[in-house]
Amino acid sequence: MNENLLYLAKIGEINLKKGNLKNFERRLAQNLSLYLENTGASVRVRAGRLFLEIPSEFRTLAEKSLDMLIGITGWAEAKVAEKNIDSIAAVLIKEAKEAVRLGCKTFKIEARRSDKSFPFTSYEIGRETGAQIHMAGILTVDVHNPDIVLSVEVREKSVFVYGVEHTGRRGLPCGVSGRGLLLLSGGIDSPVAGYRMLFRGMKLDFLYFHSHPYTSPEAQQKVETLAEKLAEYGLGAYLNIVSFTKVQQQIKKTAPEAYLTLMMRMCMMKTAERIAKKVNAQCLITGESLAQVASQTVENLSVTNSCIDFPVFRPLIGMDKEEITALAIKIGTYETSILPYEDCCVLFSPKHPVLHTRLEDAFEIYNRMGIEPFLDEAFESCETKKIIGYGKKK
Ligand code: ATP
Ligand code: MG
Repeated sequence: MNENLLYLAKIGEINLKKGNLKNFERRLAQNLSLYLENTGASVRVRAGRLFLEIPSEFRTLAEKSLDMLIGITGWAEAKVAEKNIDSIAAVLIKEAKEAVRLGCKTFKIEARRSDKSFPFTSYEIGRETGAQIHMAGILTVDVHNPDIVLSVEVREKSVFVYGVEHTGRRGLPCGVSGRGLLLLSGGIDSPVAGYRMLFRGMKLDFLYFHSHPYTSPEAQQKVETLAEKLAEYGLGAYLNIVSFTKVQQQIKKTAPEAYLTLMMRMCMMKTAERIAKKVNAQCLITGESLAQVASQTVENLSVTNSCIDFPVFRPLIGMDKEEITALAIKIGTYETSILPYEDCCVLFSPKHPVLHTRLEDAFEIYNRMGIEPFLDEAFESCETKKIIGYGKKK
C-alpha cells in the first residue's frame, strides 16, 4: 500500500486579496505542511487550488489536517485522469460507483476547463461523460438537486476528478494577520475568542493568571489542555503562566469589596500589556461579551480599556452565551471548559460588584492600592511553556 493519495482543497477568501495572494497561498501551504511533517507529503498551490500528495498510510492524518486547516472552503480526494474524454469518463464511472456505495442515487457533473485547448468545452465534458454514467445505469442525472456532484477540472498538465467534497473551515491562514496575546482562562468564552482570531489569520500566544493555592493545579491543567487544543488550529503557541496570588491578596486588603473584580481586571490588563510587549504581540484578546457579567458593562469595559495604552480585541462582544457555547462545542473546547475547576476564587468575588463605575473612581481606588510592586513581581514570575500542537505529536 505504498501508492500516493491526492487531495485537492479550495481556497476561499484569500482569492480576494490580490496584492497579498502569493504570501497568503505560501502561508496556507506551509501550514498544511507543518501538520504533515515527516510524512513525505508534498503540498503546492496552483491557480486557486491547494494540492496535497501523501503516501496512503497517512490517510487519517491527512484528512484530519485538512479538517483542521483554517483558510480552505472545501476539500476532496481527487483522482487523476488522462487528458482525453474516454479516460475522464472512465475515472468518473469509478467515482459514480463509489457514490452508489455511499447511498447516492442521483448526480450531476460539474466541469471546469482552464486549458482552453482541450477539444471539449466544460458543457460538452459534462454532457458526454454524464451520458455514459446515466446510460450505464449507475446513477440518474438530476441537475437541480443531485445526491452528489462529480467534478472534473481540466488543467494545463492534468485532469482531476473528484466526488465527495468536505466542507472546509474557511477563514484566513494562520500567520497572515499579525500576532495577539489571548488572556486564556479555563472558562467557555476565552478559547472561543482565541479561535475567532485564529480564524482571521492571527498567530496567538496565551496568558494565564493563576492564584495558587486559591486556585487548584487542576484549574491550570485545564488551561493547558485548552491551550493545546487551540494550538492545534494555530500551529503551535507559547503559554505564559503568571502568579497573581499576591496581587489578589493586596487588592483584597486595600480595595472596597464592590470593586475587587474590577481592580483585578485592571491589574490583569496592566500585566498582560507588559507580557504582550515582551513577546511582540500587537494586541490583547479577551473572551468578554457585553453585559455578560458585572465587569463587562460598557462602563467597566471602558475602565479596563483605559488603564492601558494597547489595543484590546473582544471578538465575542456581541455574541450571547448560547452562540458562544455552540462554537465552543464545534471547535472542541467545551468539554474541557465545563470541567468543574474554578479559575477564580470566590474569596475574591464580591457579592454585589459595582456595575457602572466612573473612570475617576476606578483610578482613584486603583492608585490607592500600592499595587505596582506586586505587579512587578507577577510580571517577573512569568513562566513560558512551548506548545507544539501539530505533527508527530498525534
Ligand atoms: P471565560 O469564560 O473566558 O472565563 P468569563 O465569562 O468567565 O470568561 P471573566 O471571568 O470576567 O469572564 O473574564 C473575562 C476575560 O478575562 C476572560 O474571557 C479571559 O479573556 C480573561 N481572564 C479571566 N480570568 C483569567 C485568568 N485567570 N487568566 C487569564 N485570563 C483571564
Ligand atoms: Mg471565567
